[in-house]
Amino acid sequence: MGKVLIIGAGGVGTVVAHKVAQNPDVFTEIMIASRTKSKCDAVVKAIGNPNIQTAQVDADNVDELVALFNSFKPEIVINVALPYQDLTIMEACLKTGVNYLDTANYEPKDVAHFEYSWQWAYKKRFEEAGLTAILGCGFDPGVSGVYTAYAAKHHFDEIQYLDIVDCNAGNHHKAFATNFNPEINIREITQNGRYYENGQWVTTQPMEIHKDLTYPNIGPRDSYLLYHEELESLVKNFPTIKRARFWMTFGQEYLTHLRVIQNIGMARIDEVEYNGVKIVPLQFLKAVLPNPQDLGENYEGETSIGCRIRGLKDGKEHTYYVYNNCSHQEAYKETGMQGVSYTTGVPAMIGAMMFLKGIWKKPGVWNVEEFDPDPFMEQLNKQGLPWHEVMDGDLEL
Ligand code: NDP
Repeated sequence: MGKVLIIGAGGVGTVVAHKVAQNPDVFTEIMIASRTKSKCDAVVKAIGNPNIQTAQVDADNVDELVALFNSFKPEIVINVALPYQDLTIMEACLKTGVNYLDTANYEPKDVAHFEYSWQWAYKKRFEEAGLTAILGCGFDPGVSGVYTAYAAKHHFDEIQYLDIVDCNAGNHHKAFATNFNPEINIREITQNGRYYENGQWVTTQPMEIHKDLTYPNIGPRDSYLLYHEELESLVKNFPTIKRARFWMTFGQEYLTHLRVIQNIGMARIDEVEYNGVKIVPLQFLKAVLPNPQDLGENYEGETSIGCRIRGLKDGKEHTYYVYNNCSHQEAYKETGMQGVSYTTGVPAMIGAMMFLKGIWKKPGVWNVEEFDPDPFMEQLNKQGLPWHEVMDGDLEL
């Protein structure tokens, strides 16, 4: 049915490659390209499908991307490199007539700030080119938006309160490690918290607000209010929302390490001079921390991510909780990667599948909740991320 190019051969790229290869009726030709070609070759070897092509590309360089797209001629690019590369890859897509999907919104390297404005600014150009760009198609953002769209379509006339709850109750047996790219992860969680209430954004100190939330099959876990990018698109696309928040669990050990990392200046993203060489402390830290791709083997426990929603149906108030629990060990057995890479990579593959089947195909730049959620939800059940619903239960929020 379609030719796909995956950019990025990290934890998420590895899962995307496995899942794309498992669906040969949809993905008829596959290439994986990244900064380090040997990593792409290793992924192909692990999958054991010699028909998957590999290539080296610097995705910061539009000309290199254009040359690669012109030679492979993909129908869609799945961008699972880093958020820094979103705009260069979108530019190259426009120059070559290729459709686009990613899992994280653009961030400039020198400011830890993420918002959709830079990518939404491409809407008209994608529309005029007749190309589709699907933004934020991992788990959160991604499935969190699809869950919300599904709730709006089937369970509510008006969604009023939305809480996205993200728990990782896994144990990787390392003193400190991040579950995806450490540079991106630490930039995200050291920022101020932010949530939406009554038409305004409310800013908090980092990790200022937290409370115990109970996760299915896991139990209570201390959950911290963070800003997360899908809040921006969800309150825009569902204007009845009065309050939208995002919660993520952290253990005390993790938070203590994080505090030390910040206090000693290792979370800095500006350049410092060391022995005559300019280095960015957070990038140096990434080089010495465990690689998230290597956590899978001894990772136990599971993740639980979902949406807790309150709103009106036929004039009455209802609550709805939709979630997935994902076992790190099961994810590792299937793809060699842990659950966080798995929960991101599977939805990215499904998004590309939705596009190639013509279901999520409309010229412009879109967030996932702007498409029909039903066929995506059906695939989640088939592709390894089954979901569960609780109607009118206690949301705790
Ligand atoms: P990794 O660091 O493991 O992998 C990133 C990959 O991108 C590496 O293969 C890296 O190459 C490659 N890369 C980096 N820069 C370039 C470049 N200039 N040109 C070409 N390739 C490049 O990250 P993850 O796999 O953990 O995360 C991938 C993406 O997924 C990130 O954007 C992250 O924010 C997003 N994510 C989204 C989530 C969601 O639910 N929506 C959750 C988790 C992650 P090299 O190996 O040479 O460094």
